[in-house]
Amino acid sequence: MTAVVLDGRALAARVRARVREEARAAGVVPSLAVVIVGEDPASRLYVRNKTRAAAEAGFREQTIALSADTSEAALLSVVRRLNDDPGVDGILVQLPLPPQIRPQAVIEAIDPAKDVDGFHPLNAGRLAIGKPALVPCTPKGVMTMLREAGVPVAGARALVLGRSTIVGRPMAALLTLADATVTLAHSRTRDLATECRRAEILIAAVGRAELVRGDWVAPGAAVIDVGINRTGEGRLVGDVAFAEALPRAGWISPVPGGVGPMTIASLLENTLAAALARRGGAVGSAA
Ligand code: NAD
Repeated sequence: MTAVVLDGRALAARVRARVREEARAAGVVPSLAVVIVGEDPASRLYVRNKTRAAAEAGFREQTIALSADTSEAALLSVVRRLNDDPGVDGILVQLPLPPQIRPQAVIEAIDPAKDVDGFHPLNAGRLAIGKPALVPCTPKGVMTMLREAGVPVAGARALVLGRSTIVGRPMAALLTLADATVTLAHSRTRDLATECRRAEILIAAVGRAELVRGDWVAPGAAVIDVGINRTGEGRLVGDVAFAEALPRAGWISPVPGGVGPMTIASLLENTLAAALARRGGAVGSAA
């Protein structure tokens, strides 16, 4: 058996076109504000990709670029101004932040109704109790991939590798909400290989190049690789040894071209959902 390779770029393009059409049909022009602090080239590229995708979907977008020596107080005042601006639907502060700024203080300052990253404790809590509103973009994109590929989730044994607040934890919550039987594994898990071999759905979000070997993959499993790692030779690889897993898995997402583009598509869905909710619709229609 050779796995179906999940083309994140093509799927993300379809989601983005759908968002654009939904916004147009609703007569809404969602507005996204992205704040970046410092000059990190990877962060700058991520921000450019996000705002470009927003513009292509017909959204209004603005980037607020602050210098690396910006104080926490100054950043918080920018966030408050965006919170109070009725013309802004979604606020995203690109992480990581310079060391003088506490990320949690910034995340908690964002109006939860405009928190399109879904990191505010109110949104994280809503997801944890099974009442999701704005959901973190990467795990949301993974759920879209599974749904569009027709992977059976209800009742399936799912393993999430990694317990970060950005990916692993919300991923486990979303799979639980979709009625999977979920195991959350992490750096202290004993015998990861055995845990992986039991999984019908395997989501890897660790950040260790090719940690998951081909013989850790159950025949026919859906393998979604969130990891982005650069090898010594400068090649981008995921957390899964793709070539080894390909002949065993039922479905597999590549790196690059898998989950990455889905994250941006989910950001557009969240921004539209926030815009509709702020105009009196239900939050989370796209969640
Ligand atoms: P993180 O460093 O915050 O969390 C990593 C998690 O992996 C931790 O919970 C840790 O317990 C676990 N872990 C570490 N070593 C392990 C090991 N040997 N065995 C088992 N578990 C182990 O990372 P993150 O922010 O969740 O990101 C994870 C990966 O996903 C990174 O490569 C990151 O670049 C990538 N990422 C991709 C996207 C995307 O859009 N594609 C978005 C976010 C993150």
